Amino acid sequence: MSIGVTSKVFSAAGARAAPLETQDRVKLLLVDDDRDNLLALQAVLEPLNQDLMLASSGIEALRLCLDNDFAAILLDVRMPDMDGFETAEMIRTRKRSRRTPILFLTGYRSDEQLFRGYDLGAVDFLFKPIVPEILQSKVVVFVELCLSEQLSRRQAEELARTEQKFRAVLEAAPDAMVITGVDGIIQLANSRTDFLFGYSREQLIGLNITCLIPEWTPPGAVGNGFDVTAPVETRLRALTRNGQRFPVEITRSPFESHEGLLFTTAIRDATEQAQAEERIRRINSELERRVAERTTDLTRSNEALRQFTWAASHDLQEPTRMVLTYAQWVAKTAAPKLDAQEIEMLKCVLENGGRLQMLLAALRQYIYISESGDEDWKLIDFNAAVQTAISNLEGMISDSGAAVVCDPLPSLESIEILIVQLFQNLVSNAIKYRSADPPRVRISGELRDGGWQFSVADNGIGIEPDYLQYVFGVFKRLHGRQYSGTGIGLAICKAAVDRLGGKIWVESTLGQGSIFHFFLPEKNPV
Ligand code: ADP
Repeated sequence: MSIGVTSKVFSAAGARAAPLETQDRVKLLLVDDDRDNLLALQAVLEPLNQDLMLASSGIEALRLCLDNDFAAILLDVRMPDMDGFETAEMIRTRKRSRRTPILFLTGYRSDEQLFRGYDLGAVDFLFKPIVPEILQSKVVVFVELCLSEQLSRRQAEELARTEQKFRAVLEAAPDAMVITGVDGIIQLANSRTDFLFGYSREQLIGLNITCLIPEWTPPGAVGNGFDVTAPVETRLRALTRNGQRFPVEITRSPFESHEGLLFTTAIRDATEQAQAEERIRRINSELERRVAERTTDLTRSNEALRQFTWAASHDLQEPTRMVLTYAQWVAKTAAPKLDAQEIEMLKCVLENGGRLQMLLAALRQYIYISESGDEDWKLIDFNAAVQTAISNLEGMISDSGAAVVCDPLPSLESIEILIVQLFQNLVSNAIKYRSADPPRVRISGELRDGGWQFSVADNGIGIEPDYLQYVFGVFKRLHGRQYSGTGIGLAICKAAVDRLGGKIWVESTLGQGSIFHFFLPEKNPV
């Protein structure tokens, strides 16, 4: 049978000639027993750029349907052996091609043919002579339909794969993971949730998350939306199905889905952590109790010691004075009656009595410095403080021929008496522990991180490195009787620096000199 394609020239720029902006191609099956018709159909459909497969009989068409999925089948009705309807019937019996659109090509209109065709699931009839544009337009519709089906199928597969991955991630999570809406209704939960709370997954879906975490609060509303800017992390108490409570840490994060705003709530069993914290808390409070006890003990013994030192330095003052007075009186009145040995012994009493008096005075000064009060803080010009110290040492400086130089120093909030005492003790030591060279003393100060570091450097005898740490102790002396002293001067310096919240240390090289440094944190810098 002739297909009777009209002679009208087909235009590739026609209405639907190149409708598909996709790289994907679909297959179209053209079935006609007439070779010329087949070629004519092929020529009309070629511009659509799809894979065209040709069959010249129903049997051949069926064979092709076994191995291929077609976007549409164009089927000539009148064919020998197996006509178009029989072929369509057979095509429909196969699962793979049950829904493939079939367009019957027929030479004449007959209701009987139409009924039969539509009965067999034909989607359209094309009557000969076939107009190329109409044929193209119709086929294009099926091509597009097939392409969009393919696309949706791919998207559905992709979605299924993504969902599979999402579920795998959810399952692999070490925490219970619950996905809820803003209202807290559970939409998804992983198996860890079942395990932790004793519900089955089916029971959980549709429950409110407050069944698991009674304190779970919905996200705070802001304007018309929700405050979902930051994930929420909290330590709460959770409730199992059989009523057991246990501590959990929850992290709630919002995410947008096609169902609207959802929340992932990760629930971590914090029982062990809470137990460990409780243990640490108990240990800490035990530690604090012991420290408090110890501090009380220490304060008590410190106070006892302070009182004893205070009493000793004051109460021994008078008897010492008495001993010295009587010893001096004896020396004055009875000296001619005493033999040489007795005079020597009397000298010893006088010497040691004097030393005892000096030690007691130093001790009193030490206690005084250690306890000077906060009310004495004021702005001190350190240059002036150094000058006071130097003038207090005037005799010593001129006797020794010492050269004392002082770099410009700052003014700082401090306690004047302590600063004068500090410089005085350090400068007098620098001169006292001099070498054979005339003493040279340099006082300097430099701004350091958060305060000032002052230094008193000398060119004296120096200190052995092993003994550097001892010099600031009370009554600690490194050098013997050839240098007068009580061993309390540097202890006073340390007490003063402690009172000012600073620190003191010394660097020294034996035989070359020492540098005493002290750092004072800046209180109110000027
Ligand atoms: P002292 O009354 O003996 O001078 P200090 O407490 O002032 O007591 O000093 C403790 C000891 O540190 C001194 O006996 C001395 O041995 C050592 N010392 C202090 N200053 C210096 C110094 N500038 N050079 C060398 N040794 C020093």
